[in-house]
This record gives sequence, structure tokens and C-alpha cells, in this order.
Amino acid sequence: MASSSSPSSVVLSTGVQMPVLGLGTYKLWGPEEVYWAVDAALAAGYRAFDSAAVYRNEADLGRALKELLPKYGLTREDVFITSKLGPKDHGGKAMEGALHSLSQLDLGYIDLYLIHWPGTQGLAVDDKRNPGNRAQSWATLEELNAQGKLRAIGVSNYTPAHMKELIQSCKVLPAVLQVEFHPRLCQTELRSVCDEYGVCFQAYSSLGKGELVTDPLVMEIAKNNERTPAQVLLRWAVQQGVPVLPKSSNPDRIKENARLFDFTLNKTDMNRLSALDCGQKYCWDPSEVV
Ligand code: NAP
Repeated sequence: MASSSSPSSVVLSTGVQMPVLGLGTYKLWGPEEVYWAVDAALAAGYRAFDSAAVYRNEADLGRALKELLPKYGLTREDVFITSKLGPKDHGGKAMEGALHSLSQLDLGYIDLYLIHWPGTQGLAVDDKRNPGNRAQSWATLEELNAQGKLRAIGVSNYTPAHMKELIQSCKVLPAVLQVEFHPRLCQTELRSVCDEYGVCFQAYSSLGKGELVTDPLVMEIAKNNERTPAQVLLRWAVQQGVPVLPKSSNPDRIKENARLFDFTLNKTDMNRLSALDCGQKYCWDPSEVV
């Protein structure tokens, strides 16, 4: 199992520390929005940033970091950058796709590179080429990992079946599985696969894309703890050792979402939140892909 080294980071199977809190960047558009969000995040203590080829903001993120790190007395080594191989680049195009991410970010190396999605864009979900493309993409990531260009490699949106397929055939085990995770989607089966193989389970859409902050139970627990609903949702995950990636373009909310390490939810609150589990997804559904 990925172990905890401090309240604010986890140690991946590669031995590298990954911050428990990262800024999600999906829908951060354009150089200015990315710049101001990164500025607010660095000021609030974020040291990890989650991008992807399909977000079309890798170049803006890389540029913003190069400009802003000195302002905070930080260097490249102080931040942890994640990006992802786009579904259109699966299989034979994986090398080109990953090298494109590296050149867009232009930060020397990528700390964590994920296969974004199990299926190949443009192929039907039951297309027999999908498993071969996944294997070829993974072998490419392994090659770039051996060269040090991708410090850690992992997957996203994989189901338990995809994880088992990968684990049976890979040379390097995935360091991270990034999937949707919040009280309405507790992902019990995937979490136990990750625990069994030492894969760090990482959450996305912890706020249900913003919709969960108005859930009545989340609001009640927030009020009782004198916290905000977003902080309760994020704390529920990190208290279970699950790293989170809240997205915001608003400096006040970026700051609010970082205040996770100075309070604890009691067992009753944790259990009541987990009891909301109903399999609800706010994002895409990977079980529709073989
Ligand atoms: P999210 O973090 O669950 O929610 C983001 C939404 O909540 C935004 O609309 C944001 O609006 C709002 N928000 C943020 N902080 C808030 C607060 N304190 N109070 C109220 N509203 C708040 O959704 P997400 O963007 O889907 O997920 C987060 C990150 O995970 C993404 O940005 C991306 O990096 C990653 N992700 C990965 C995948 C994948 O396939 N691997 C899929 C989805 C997401 P404002 O911006 O206006 O604050």
C-alpha cells in the first residue's frame, strides 16, 4: 500500500513523495486563468498540479510555473506535476503523445504520467484493439520511465478488470490509479485492488464537480465542524489517506480548499458521509469501455 509519510504527502511505490493536495486544472483555460490560479495555489501551499493533454493547458501550466516558482523561493524539484496521455494517442501514437506532453510542459521531466482513459478515442467500446492499445501505451510509458523522463507512471479511469489485465502483464506496476471518488462513489472494489498491489489510489472530482457542496448532510457536518462543505468533502478523502485534486479558478476557494490539515472529522461524521455511497458518477463512466 502507498504509505503516508506526513499528513501532507504519500510515498509512492517508486519511493517518491506525492503531495496529498494538488490543484485540479481541468477547465482552467488560457494563459491568464492558469497563471492566476497557479499563483493563488502556490501562495496557499499547493505543491502539486494535475494537467492532461486533453485539458490543452500543459504549455500554460509549464510557463506559469517557470515564472512563478522563483516568486515563492521554489524550484522545479519542489513541485509535483501530473499529466496524462490522451485517448487519441493510445497504442502506436503513445510515444508521440507523451513526448508532446513533455515538450508542452517544458519542465525537464514529468513527475507522474497517467494513461487518461482505458479506451482508444474513435474505437467502439467492444473493439478488440483496445486491450492491445492499452498494453502498447503502457510499454511506452515504461520505456520513458526507465529513461527518467516520466518519474512515475500510472493509470486513470481503469476498472478492476483493467487493473487486473495491466498488473498481470506489466513490467512496472502502476504507481497511481486516479479515479472519481467522493462520498457518493466510494469505489470499494478499486480501493482494495490498489491496496493489494501497492498502487496509490487518488481521487478526482471530490466536490462532485461542485454539486456535492450543497448536499444537506455535507452542509450539516460542515456547520457542526465550523468548516465549509468543500473542506468536509476533501477532509473525508485525505483522512482515509486518499490524495485529492480540487479544481478552482477562484483564489478564495483555492485557499479554502487547502485548509484540510488542521482539523479532523470524527468517526460518526466519517461513517455518515461514507453511507451516502450510491455509485453516483459526475464524470465519464469507464465501465462502458472494455
Ligand atoms: P471538482 O474539483 O469536484 O469541482 C470543481 C468545481 O467545484 C468547479 O466548478 C469549482 O468552481 C467548484 N468549486 C471549487 N472549490 C469550491 C468550493 N470551495 N466551494 C464551492 N465550489 C467550489 O471537479 P473536477 O474539476 O471534475 O475534478 C478536479 C480535478 O480532477 C480536475 O480539475 C482534474 O485535474 C482532475 N480530473 C481528472 C479526471 C480524469 O479523467 N483523470 C476527470 C475529472 C477530473 P470554481 O472554479 O468557480 O471555483
